[in-house]
Amino acid sequence: MTLQQIQFLHRSYPLIFSQRIGVGCPNGWFDLINRVCVELEQFAKAQQACGASVGSLPQLRDIKEKYGVLCIYFSGDDPRIDSLIAEAEEESGRLCAICGKEATTRRGFNRLCEAHGAARL
Ligand SMILES: [Zn+2]
Repeated sequence: MTLQQIQFLHRSYPLIFSQRIGVGCPNGWFDLINRVCVELEQFAKAQQACGASVGSLPQLRDIKEKYGVLCIYFSGDDPRIDSLIAEAEEESGRLCAICGKEATTRRGFNRLCEAHGAARL
């Protein structure tokens, strides 16, 4: 993930990124991660609206790639959020690591789309 992509996430989702964690993932997962973060930030905002103090709001502990699959560690405890994260982690395994399109092949742990799979990288 590029510095610009990470800075965008930090800026867009200040509650869940209050720890300003890094995001060690392929660039191609940005859209997927961005989509999940919208939901997580809303979840944190709802807790804030219910009177939770800033220090007790749910937040991201880590976002990383592990054996070619996305791993999101979130402190929020909610079944809907848990399944949202599980779905995103599963979906990451079907996306091109470089561009995020549907992956058709793999190289090492990375999944790649047709174009990037054919290119010599
Ligand atoms: Zn691709």
